[in-house]
Amino acid sequence: MSIDESKLQSRLQALRAQGLWRRLRVRAGPTQPHATIDGRPMLGFCSNDYLGLANHPAVVAAFCAGTERWGVGSGAAHLINGHTCAHQALEEALAEFTGRPRALLFSTGYMANLGVIAALTRPGDLVLEDRLNHASLIDAALLARARLRRYRHADSESLQTLVAKEQARLIVTDGVFSMDGDLAPLPELAQIARSSGAWLMVDDAHGLGVIGLEGGGSLAHFDLGMEEVPILMGTLGKALGTFGAFVAGSEILIETLIHQARSYVYTTAPPPALAEATLVSLQLARQETWRRERLADWIGCFREGARRLGLHLMDSATPIQPILLGESELASAWSEALAARGILVPAIRPPTVPQGTARLRVTFSASHTAEDIGRLLAALARLLDEMGGSCAPEVRPAP
Ligand code: PMP
Repeated sequence: MSIDESKLQSRLQALRAQGLWRRLRVRAGPTQPHATIDGRPMLGFCSNDYLGLANHPAVVAAFCAGTERWGVGSGAAHLINGHTCAHQALEEALAEFTGRPRALLFSTGYMANLGVIAALTRPGDLVLEDRLNHASLIDAALLARARLRRYRHADSESLQTLVAKEQARLIVTDGVFSMDGDLAPLPELAQIARSSGAWLMVDDAHGLGVIGLEGGGSLAHFDLGMEEVPILMGTLGKALGTFGAFVAGSEILIETLIHQARSYVYTTAPPPALAEATLVSLQLARQETWRRERLADWIGCFREGARRLGLHLMDSATPIQPILLGESELASAWSEALAARGILVPAIRPPTVPQGTARLRVTFSASHTAEDIGRLLAALARLLDEMGGSCAPEVRPAP
């Protein structure tokens, strides 16, 4: 049977009518604040390259030298013949960085989450997740055919209520929430997990490199170890500026994943040169503390300016600084108006965020300058003027 394109077409039209149309923009050049996008020079506040390491000359040099040594492709899955000493060295460095016996590389964070949750549950097991967890964590529980229950965002009482009803296998949370920028209450979650006999898994894609001593992430921020959080997932494509992901934990956890995480077993290992580049960026992320200090400056400067403008910010101390606007059409209109002024800030709309909480997701990088932050604030001020000062529309709080 052929695909009925007219049905697909009407689905797309419905999305457009709801202000949910998404358009790919084409960037010419590396990810950095100033780039040519769709043929125009733009200033971007939309990258997860928080520390500005994606184009660091030493990282690029390591990648180039890596391709000279290894070629480009790894040639096979890790378990077949794709695992090299470059992968091994990075896994050892990540284990040391996270203070855990072992770490295991995955090709992407999405795949790491799918692999871990499916490997650690059986169909029907109860998995409890924060309502605002990243889509990959939600998808993972659904694909694992676990029973997924979601507790109220960052609300340990809501979790406690669910835990009191029946035995959960896993409690899963983002460390730093990708669309809100706030932190999970990890000490309380860890306490609940421990007292209920569930395992706590933290996806720290947006915390690693960015917060905590040496960029150790959410766990370092709260001074939590493997006892409290046995499963830690981190990504390499954000603060570390490269690509891929890892899971860190005990010897037994990692051996279980090697044997049973299907998204590890049945996929090609990442290019070894990528591991070489990440080894360098990890070192830079740990040592170059000025990058985190600069980020803190930009966050403070932006929040102060945005508050003066009366913008509706969220309770975030991280480089993810959403401006809540409410309806999708409004978020799209603001994003387009900023783009017309040469500033790129994506509109984030349902289903990525709950209905009624569409927003501009502003993200900062250590590569931004004070002038860049000034330009963003000035553009927002002009936009508010043009819109007659209606800056903080009624927004339903996130559930
Ligand atoms: N977890 C979180 C919290 C994320 O934000 C993302 C990426 N947006 C992922 C997982 C997926 O990581 P990757 O991009 O490496 O697949």
